[in-house]
Amino acid sequence: MEPFPGNFLSKLPKTGTSIFAVMSKMAADHKAINLSQGFPDFEVSPGLIGLVEKYMNKGMNQYAPMQGILPLREIITTKVKEAYSADYHPETEINITAGGTQALSSVIEAFVKDDDEVIIFEPAYDSYSPVVKLNNGIVKYAELRQPDYHIDWMEVRKLITAHTRMIIINSPHNPTGSVLKPSDMAELIRLTDNTDILVLSDEVYEHLIYDGIRHESVSRYPQLACRSFVVGSFGKTFHATGWKLGFVLAPENLMAEFRKTHQFIVFTCNTPIQYALAEFMKDKSTYQNLHNFYQEKRDHFVGLLAKSRFEVIPSHGTYFQLLSYRNISGKKDTEMAEWLITEYGIAAIPVSAFYNKKNDYQVLRFCFAKKDETLEKEARLLCRI
Ligand code: PMP
Ligand code: GLN
Repeated sequence: MEPFPGNFLSKLPKTGTSIFAVMSKMAADHKAINLSQGFPDFEVSPGLIGLVEKYMNKGMNQYAPMQGILPLREIITTKVKEAYSADYHPETEINITAGGTQALSSVIEAFVKDDDEVIIFEPAYDSYSPVVKLNNGIVKYAELRQPDYHIDWMEVRKLITAHTRMIIINSPHNPTGSVLKPSDMAELIRLTDNTDILVLSDEVYEHLIYDGIRHESVSRYPQLACRSFVVGSFGKTFHATGWKLGFVLAPENLMAEFRKTHQFIVFTCNTPIQYALAEFMKDKSTYQNLHNFYQEKRDHFVGLLAKSRFEVIPSHGTYFQLLSYRNISGKKDTEMAEWLITEYGIAAIPVSAFYNKKNDYQVLRFCFAKKDETLEKEARLLCRI
């Protein structure tokens, strides 16, 4: 194909391909164990797959309502009420989305416009800032403070101006596995009180939180819930990242605005999977015990690394584990990631990819949503380094 002969200006001139796509391709090219992109290497529950098949065979194959099917929204209402004592009306305050990613971008698109400022904490999941920029917003970066990657609220206070439109938080946090505490929520309430600032709370790992820690959903706090969008992902909770189904919660007046963008981005999402989830989730054990399952995986992986020269940076949530290689090599993290793939057949994500200025602290992110045998094979290799 001949290239386009005319001129055009890139809307995202500095944006390349997502690190997840880059590393997964490199892993496939080198036949490496892929602990880079976050996805499980074990199967979705056969019960859930059976339900998808059931609803496909029953003919639930045409457009679902724009908001998502009501039974699934009703299940979410119950789940959020029980978990966080929050009331979200299934008709007006819940929407099903094409994964957390679409929820996040549709929220940003609905509210961020010329020169609006959006505060994002780094290291940050990669989808937030490009969407802010696409909508002519300005990203203000606040750096999470090591070693435990906590928020420096004094820094946030300094970043807030009359133009601050939104603060994006993410707990449990990708890539670090840090989690917000009640004291963080109190700070967020104080900083946003009497302002027009919206909070976009990425809670896709709400069920992956360990060590007996309570998930601090913004929905628990009425002073925050009234100005917040909460984003969830069925892909994370049901080991089905490829299904791309998620949801978003918000008070009615914010949700009405969200739906204006959502309807023209996807209009509606996969119908049979929504019916299958609505039936599957009636059994609460399908998601309520997930933290035990993943905590065992984390502990197994970390235990296997006890004799390695990597330094484990504690992860309290998500299915990611950060490892520092400060004591092993002076390489840049991108070089180290490449070296691990080519020399040892292990793919991990260099954490500098999650920073706007590519800050390199010599830390790599590993996904432990893997079969025990995968983790054991991986750990054996890591212990040889
Ligand atoms: N937010 C974070 C922090 C994530 O790690 C992911 C996973 N890709 C998403 C959002 C998007 O979720 P989904 O796969 O449902 O689009
Ligand atoms: N959330 C996953 C991760 O952080 C994958 C996201 C993606 O591939 N876009 O690895």
